[in-house]
Amino acid sequence: MIFPECVKILTNVLRRLPAEMDLPLLLNRHTLSHAAILSIPHTEGTMYETSLRAAMTELGASLFNRGFSSGSSGNMSVRLPSGSILATPTNSSLGRLVPERLSLVGMDGGLLSGDKPSKECAFHLAIYKARPDCNAVVHLHSTYATALSCLDGLDPDDVLRPFTPYYVMKVSPLPLVPYFKPGSQKLFDAIAGKAERCASMLLANHGAITTGSTLEQAVNAAEELEETAKLFFLLQGKEIRYLTDDEIKELKPH
Ligand SMILES: [Zn+2]
Repeated sequence: MIFPECVKILTNVLRRLPAEMDLPLLLNRHTLSHAAILSIPHTEGTMYETSLRAAMTELGASLFNRGFSSGSSGNMSVRLPSGSILATPTNSSLGRLVPERLSLVGMDGGLLSGDKPSKECAFHLAIYKARPDCNAVVHLHSTYATALSCLDGLDPDDVLRPFTPYYVMKVSPLPLVPYFKPGSQKLFDAIAGKAERCASMLLANHGAITTGSTLEQAVNAAEELEETAKLFFLLQGKEIRYLTDDEIKELKPH
């Protein structure tokens, strides 16, 4: 009899687990890829929040391990169906997030549980308020996007003229937010102003912000932006064939 045997084995395994271990979290971490976690229907409940905590930890580590963030730079957040925001804590490394310690904050910025959020969490909240369709925000100081943000004479309405279709589909347009001190109200206000019209933006002399209807979408946009900025620098001094207006319209009709 296979089934009773399986139950017996599983029961023995569960008995050996420490009592404080969160079983749903453990199962999510070890049996589901982040793609599977993110495909879970957007419904209320602890299981969904637990899955998002695991997904944020997994995606943060993936970004960190591939050099998209370093040290304690960068932060990300996701909006829960309840309206609360799950965000990375202050001074945390995206490479070493702990699901149980992520900051759960209300839309007023008040901490509901977990560690104190990053001070940049305030602009995440400003974006969520400006964009009801946005459910995730990723902010990175990734090398090439940040290098691009330090150039003088950028077009404030659209920093990078498109030369690949994927950049058009996932990122563009990319407005520039003028430089303000990190963590300042002026910076948060400037970001909120741009967020109403654009899903991605570059912060002058600072880094990039991408958003999405899911965390995976916002992360994909951040990676696409970083790779496009890298191509931009690789192509310096060469003739670039930019996409034409018709080619851009074909990719993004609206
Ligand atoms: Zn920053």
